[in-house]
Amino acid sequence: MEARKHSALKDSIRSIPDYPKPGIIFRDITTLLSDPRSFRRAVDSLVHPYAGGQVDQVAGIEARGFILGGAVAHQLSSGFVPIRKKGKLPHKTVSLEYSLEYGTDHIEIHVDAIKKGDRVLLVDDLIATGGTATAAVNLLRQLGAEVVAACFVIDLPEIGGAQKLRDLGVQVRTLVEFEGH
Ligand code: AMP
Repeated sequence: MEARKHSALKDSIRSIPDYPKPGIIFRDITTLLSDPRSFRRAVDSLVHPYAGGQVDQVAGIEARGFILGGAVAHQLSSGFVPIRKKGKLPHKTVSLEYSLEYGTDHIEIHVDAIKKGDRVLLVDDLIATGGTATAAVNLLRQLGAEVVAACFVIDLPEIGGAQKLRDLGVQVRTLVEFEGH
């Protein structure tokens, strides 16, 4: 039902084989973002379960999570907090190393971005291994956040990241699924 409901959304996502390396199919949401109906539908669907509930901050993961997360935060009348790659945030940060589908990296958040007890919604475009989102949840929890849920437009369920996140006690919501990696 959910998958059928979002078939137009799925069709608006461009797939680029062998990018950024052989064997990876890059799921490119720039085509979703540039289509007004798809952009609105994606944001409305991400927001829907949390409208009317209390979300203090939306945390978006660099870089596509900023675009979606900013729009979600606006709709929820909440704040927006960026989670960025190492060295990009100007103030004092807390940092975590994580592994992703193609390599390892660090993500950071400003040390004062979250107040203890803040209800936080995590947003990104896609969950694959779940490494990035797990690191983000750990950073947010380190600062005392209550992570209400983690939301993604795209799930790659065969890789198992969403399940990994659920095993950490995080509610996970995704809109469309693609097979493979
Ligand atoms: P992961 O940490 O493995 O769950 O990877 C998630 C992050 O990497 C997200 O920020 C995605 O934007 C990006 N990513 C991983 N795999 C893909 C893919 N196949 N297509 C597009 N983006 C991807």
